[in-house]
Amino acid sequence: MEQAIIDNMNEITTLQTFGAHQPAHTDGSTSTEESRVQVLIESSTAEESTIGEAVEKKKGRKRKKNEENWKQNQAKRLRNSGKEYKTKNDKTVRSRSVNPPCTDKCRIKCSEKMTEEQRQAIFDSYWKIGESNAQRSFIMSSMTDITPKYKYTNAEHPRKCNKA
Ligand SMILES: [Zn+2]
Repeated sequence: MEQAIIDNMNEITTLQTFGAHQPAHTDGSTSTEESRVQVLIESSTAEESTIGEAVEKKKGRKRKKNEENWKQNQAKRLRNSGKEYKTKNDKTVRSRSVNPPCTDKCRIKCSEKMTEEQRQAIFDSYWKIGESNAQRSFIMSSMTDITPKYKYTNAEHPRKCNKA
């Protein structure tokens, strides 16, 4: 049914274009070609109601797209806040939580320097930001250079310090 409307509309456009390129009639008489076009355009008005329906359908699709957009934005908010969210494929991604602490094998000795409460507090403030760029800056500003005991370097290829 939609194809029929499109065909019909194409026909009208073609005829209108054709009409526009018709040379002007100096004698003032209406050419038979022009009147035929007129009849065709008028007859097409009967289809108006169906064309109206097609427009209505288009609006419906647009609204659905907005809804998808909204859903994706909501998922993004949840994801960037470390909360549970659903992907486009309806897969559920579980909310983030603090990982188990380093073992005593850790060279930086994290677990001696930091309590579980402190770890939880950092976790909370990070996910509270809820925006990936700001979260990246948070990480960057929280890191300091590790000064190695021995640094292998030369003037041509200076090394950058590792971060922790
Ligand atoms: Zn550690």
